[in-house]
Amino acid sequence: MLAMATPVNGHKIALVTGANKGIGYEIVRGLARQQMTVLLGCRDMARAENAAGQLAKEDFAAIPLHLDVTRPETIAAAAAQIDASYGKLDVLVNNAGIAREWQFKPSQVDLSLIKEIYGTNLLGPVAVIQAMLPLLLRSPAGRIVNVSSSLGSLALTSDPASPLSQLPCLGYSSSKAALNAVTVQFANELRGTPVKVNAVCPGYVATDLNNHSGPRTPEQGARIAIQMATIPQDGPTGGYFNEDGRIPW
Ligand code: NAP
Repeated sequence: MLAMATPVNGHKIALVTGANKGIGYEIVRGLARQQMTVLLGCRDMARAENAAGQLAKEDFAAIPLHLDVTRPETIAAAAAQIDASYGKLDVLVNNAGIAREWQFKPSQVDLSLIKEIYGTNLLGPVAVIQAMLPLLLRSPAGRIVNVSSSLGSLALTSDPASPLSQLPCLGYSSSKAALNAVTVQFANELRGTPVKVNAVCPGYVATDLNNHSGPRTPEQGARIAIQMATIPQDGPTGGYFNEDGRIPW
C-alpha cells in the first residue's frame, strides 16, 4: 500500500511521471491545487521524497511512487500499488522525457542514443498507459495526457521558415512525433469510453532538459497539461495542443 492515507471520498487520483523536477513537478503542484491526490512517479525515490517534502510545505498532498518508465517491473509494481491503495486512477500524465542530442546533426547521432531516447519518450509512455489503463477505465472520467513537444510536429519542423526547422534533434523530434501517433492510436481505441487521450506541448521552458535556455517558466509550461488533465466529458480526445490551441501534426 502507498504510504499515505486513502483520500477523502470523491478525490481524484493522478499519476505524473518524471515528477521530481521541471515541468512535471509543476504539473503535480497544479493538480494538487485542484484537490487531487497526486502520485509523484519518479525513478529515484530520494528525489521523489525531496519533491514531496517541498510540496508538503504548501499543504499539497503528493505521494512518492517508484516508477522508472524504462523498467517494466517498476511500472507493474506502481500499477499494483495504485490498485491496492485506490482501486482506480483518474489522471495519467506521461511527462518523463529526455533529450541528449542537441549538439548532433542527424547524420552524426549515434543509434544507441536514439534507442535510449525512444525507450524513455516513446516506449515508456506506451508501457505506462498499457499498465494503467484498467485503472483509468474504472474512473468515471479518465484522462491521459502525453507531454509531447512542438518538435514532434512534422508540419512545423518541415517548414523552413520556422525556427524549429533549425534545431537538429533526430531522436527527440521523431520520438515525440511517434508519441503523437501513439496518442491518436489510444484515443481511437478508447472512443466510446470515458477516457480521453491528448498530446500537449508545454512551450520552450527553462529546465535541465535544455540547460535552462527556454523563456517560459516550468509553471507556465505545466498549464496546458493541467488543462487537458481536467477537461470535461465533452472535451477533445486524440488532439495535440499548446496553450494557444491546436498544434498542426
Ligand atoms: P527535466 O527538468 O529534465 O525533467 C525530466 C523529468 O523526467 C525528470 O523528473 C527526470 O527524472 C524524469 N525522467 C527521465 N527519465 C526517466 C525515466 N526513465 N523514468 C522516470 N522519470 C524519468 O525536463 P522538462 O523540461 O521538465 O521535461 C518534461 C517533459 O516536457 C519532457 O517530456 C519533455 O520532452 C517535455 N518538453 C519540454 C520542453 C522544454 O522546453 N523544457 C519543451 C517541450 C516538451 P530524473 O530527475 O531522475 O532525471
